[in-house]
Amino acid sequence: MMFHILCLVAMSAMSSACSFGNGTCKGVTLVSRSEWGARPPKEVVSIPMPVKMVFIHHTAMDYCTNISTCSEQMRKIQNFHMDDRGWFDIGYNYLVGEDGRVYEGRGWNREGAHTKGYNRDAVAISVMGDFSDRLPNKKALDAVNNLIVCGIKQNNITKDYLLYGHRNVRETACPGDKFYELIKTWPHFYLNKQGVDTIIG
Ligand SMILES: [Zn+2]
Repeated sequence: MMFHILCLVAMSAMSSACSFGNGTCKGVTLVSRSEWGARPPKEVVSIPMPVKMVFIHHTAMDYCTNISTCSEQMRKIQNFHMDDRGWFDIGYNYLVGEDGRVYEGRGWNREGAHTKGYNRDAVAISVMGDFSDRLPNKKALDAVNNLIVCGIKQNNITKDYLLYGHRNVRETACPGDKFYELIKTWPHFYLNKQGVDTIIG
């Protein structure tokens, strides 16, 4: 009962904080929208959970290694997405900094603007920085993985989810050559899953 009440309060504030309130998100240090200074979204569209696909992105903008610079990046990215791109909100569901924190974007069960054609069927996690020539640091990589595990535990992501890089469905450098080489080795990467009918060539 208490959980539902907390959830309703959080939902009304357009936050997914309720998803993080039950103690199952080991290793995830969440920075909420209010903590990083988000603008309110122009519109919020829900999608059914759990999703079967996780997309990995990079922002191709600055790196950040503490809560102050990462929060500043979040505000810049949100402004860029809302004012220049004309989107409802920051595009991704979650972002990760090299401070090892997870920054709340649209949150779970929200349609994003991250991967054209897949925004209703996937969640997107973007690491802040450009990972063409180097990998995200260990803190950031651990945060990405812990967030996915958390998403599975909370039934926001299916256990047998498939992992993709943005470039697997669009002509883009995202999530950067180095980072892409790494995620290709992760067990849920879609080409590593046997017997799965891949929708992408
Ligand atoms: Zn991308």
